[in-house]
Amino acid sequence: MEPKENIFPNAVWIDEKNLGIEKDNSKCINCGTCKLTCQKVTGKTFYDPKDCLSCGNCILTCPMNALKPKNELSQVRRALKENKLLIAYISPAVRVSIGECFGLTPGEFCAQKLIASLYKLGFSYVFDTTFGADLTIMEECYELKNRIVKGGTLPMITSCCPSWVKYAKLYYPELEENLSTCKSPIGMQGAMIKSYFAEKIGVKKDELFTVAITPCTAKKMETKEEQFQNTDAVLTVTELASWMKEEKLDLKKMEEKDFSSEFGEGSGGGTLFGSTGGVMTSALRTLYYMMTNEKIDESLLESLRETKRVKELELTIGQRTIKVAVVHGLTYAKPLLEEIKEKKSKYDFIEIMNCELGCVGGGGQPKLYEKEYLKASRQKGLQNRDRNQEIHAPYENENIKKIYQEFLISPGGYISLKYLHTKKKEEEKN
Ligand code: SF4
Ligand code: SF4
Ligand code: SF4
Repeated sequence: MEPKENIFPNAVWIDEKNLGIEKDNSKCINCGTCKLTCQKVTGKTFYDPKDCLSCGNCILTCPMNALKPKNELSQVRRALKENKLLIAYISPAVRVSIGECFGLTPGEFCAQKLIASLYKLGFSYVFDTTFGADLTIMEECYELKNRIVKGGTLPMITSCCPSWVKYAKLYYPELEENLSTCKSPIGMQGAMIKSYFAEKIGVKKDELFTVAITPCTAKKMETKEEQFQNTDAVLTVTELASWMKEEKLDLKKMEEKDFSSEFGEGSGGGTLFGSTGGVMTSALRTLYYMMTNEKIDESLLESLRETKRVKELELTIGQRTIKVAVVHGLTYAKPLLEEIKEKKSKYDFIEIMNCELGCVGGGGQPKLYEKEYLKASRQKGLQNRDRNQEIHAPYENENIKKIYQEFLISPGGYISLKYLHTKKKEEEKN
């Protein structure tokens, strides 16, 4: 039975039902650092363990390593033993941080070495979650354009950060209509693998075992929800690095391999999803194209790359002026949310991420200890990669065009609603 009171009153209260993180009470010295971190990131003190957002930020500052991501490695190992077909997909922010566990510097891009490592561990396919990010943008921009043109609920708010989504459900239920109905990139990627891809390779979906490699402990919580169960396990950067070390794989010494072609590389916009402003940059590139048939002048989006907690931008697209905001850290989102509640918001679209600088600062990332400022190097790593990628936006991505031609038909269409949006949207349609 769970204790009725937190036995470490200075610590955050993490119970066994927490889906994202776990606590080893034998290591806890009741120092209170985790509680301060939680307050700083979320603006809340969680007196009830069920209200924890599973963001894992408290893991990053615990001096005793008493907090850690909820273990899902045992499930992956079991699937390997059962000879399931293992498929991994790597989130954007992982490729600029996992190297730190092997002596590389924060921000150093190591996707190709990581792909080779995953093949060595027994994965049959390694996909890029930037593909899922591109799909998210196609669907999200279609939804936003519709809301703008048809006078739907604005501002629309991004829904790809599960900690933010849980926070919204707990503290701002009246803003439900403001949240995009799009699933997160991992939610979309998993759904496409267990449907479109499984059919393509002629394998039943229960013979597949899908593993998301993420910077995020909250994704463990998200993928247990009924509508997100196409991802069978979530491994954080730190969990994967420990597994690789156990298997004596040194990332630095790995050869370089490419993503499996089906859901291979996404656009630069997809890469940017791993840091604050990235979703908005990719969305504005795409929305601009959807509404004008022209490419946006990139210099207009430059300010979205900054590290500021709250950024805003006004942009003329065709006949319409669009006002957007980008926030990282829920404490900083609160004033904007209060404005929406009071129907005083001036924005059309808002990106909200729970963690500092977005997913590069996620709770499943390696600890930076006194070098927290190096989080910005991870962000720079993603931004540099975007600059060097040939394809900048999802609408230019051939893999995205192909999946719409062969399977999804059109953004916001019947099949997209079935697989890529939360049920709420499907019900509206019926
Ligand atoms: S930071 Fe770690 S050691 Fe300190 S109270 Fe929290 S869990 Fe316990
Ligand atoms: S996981 Fe996040 S919300 Fe939960 S206690 Fe830790 S910092 Fe707070
Ligand atoms: S900002 Fe990213 S890493 Fe942090 S909780 Fe949200 S999705 Fe997870």
